[in-house]
Amino acid sequence: FIVVLNSISESLDAAKVAQKILDALVQPHVILHHELHIGGSIGIAVFPDDGTSSETLLKNSDVAMYHAKENGRNNYQFFTNDLNKSAHERHTLGLDLRHALERNELVLFYQPVMDMPDNRLHSVEALLRWQHPQQQLIGPDKFIGLAEETGLIIPIGEWVIKTVCLQIKAWKSQGYSVPRVAINLSGRQFRDNSLIKNISHILEETGTEARYITLEITESMLIDDIEKVVNTLKCLSEMGIHISIDDFGTGYSSLSYLKRFPIHTLKIDRSFVRDIVTDKNDHTIVAAIIAMAHSLEIEVIAEGIETAEQLQLLMAQRCNHYQGYYFSRPVPVSQIENMLQESVTTVNKMHAVG
Ligand code: C2E
Ligand code: CA
Ligand code: CA
Repeated sequence: FIVVLNSISESLDAAKVAQKILDALVQPHVILHHELHIGGSIGIAVFPDDGTSSETLLKNSDVAMYHAKENGRNNYQFFTNDLNKSAHERHTLGLDLRHALERNELVLFYQPVMDMPDNRLHSVEALLRWQHPQQQLIGPDKFIGLAEETGLIIPIGEWVIKTVCLQIKAWKSQGYSVPRVAINLSGRQFRDNSLIKNISHILEETGTEARYITLEITESMLIDDIEKVVNTLKCLSEMGIHISIDDFGTGYSSLSYLKRFPIHTLKIDRSFVRDIVTDKNDHTIVAAIIAMAHSLEIEVIAEGIETAEQLQLLMAQRCNHYQGYYFSRPVPVSQIENMLQESVTTVNKMHAVG
């Protein structure tokens, strides 16, 4: 929708109107006994500073609207020149991303997940990187969103699953004791109707057993179309794939899904772990998550452990596993292989650079 305000005295008046629209939109609608919610993201461009033609004003309000969406929706944003610049960079990056797969520029790093308290390798998480030809190694936060918007996440996601399976196969043939590998799924991938078919196909094609694979999904992927979600998760679980809930505690979903869905692991989000030593609330929340998970027979991984003190506290709360820079950053295959070799003996603490 486009709203034209032709009699404002200053830019801030547009903000007031935008807020009124947002307030009106968030009112729930009851349809067939279901409470439905909608929201809005509003971009504002002001004549004449942000453009003197209707085309420019429209384009710039669009750029601002995307910024509002990135900011978590349900907010408004003004257009600025910095925004324009970053929108341009994003556009160029999006074009390059199209070629990233065919040019073999994507790589997987692996981060070890350790057992508590005996500090043995439990599993690894595959984390995507992009070796852009003209830039430094680009982290997933910079391009996964873009890949989602453009649909490229589907072939990229398949590449990740296939690469992990081939890696497992290679490790097996080299005689390593192979840990479970966790793969991150994006929302669009999870909703894709061909997900199960594609995964089965990749497992078969590469001769990989499903018991080596964990899929990490987030709470927000569980809320819409519950029946479909239950079916998908059941199917994956019956194949032998583990399901892990990533960034646990940051979504707004109801806890009842923990009972309904076959979930093997919860990963406590880094934001709770970060201040666990100093913030009593975080400490209490983490203790409650662990107690709840254990009573539902779900294992818990604490993410983002950076210090011995954090580890100590989580150990006292009987958390099952941990992952974080304290033990190791995500590292390239060759470095994770050093840990696999050692996993037969004992792993010494290592601070890898990655
Ligand atoms: P995530 O799944 O929550 O992954 C954990 C992120 O935390 C990783 O960032 C990891 O490098 C970082 N991390 C691990 N330990 C620590 C720590 O002790 N301190 C701090 N500050 N950070 C730590 P990374 O690799 O940049 O990945 C960011 C996100 O990108 C991931 O968050 C995940 O949501 C997404 N992602 C990564 N790979 C893939 C993929 O193959 N597919 C999809 N769809 N998403 C991916
Ligand atoms: Ca993850
Ligand atoms: Ca996470």
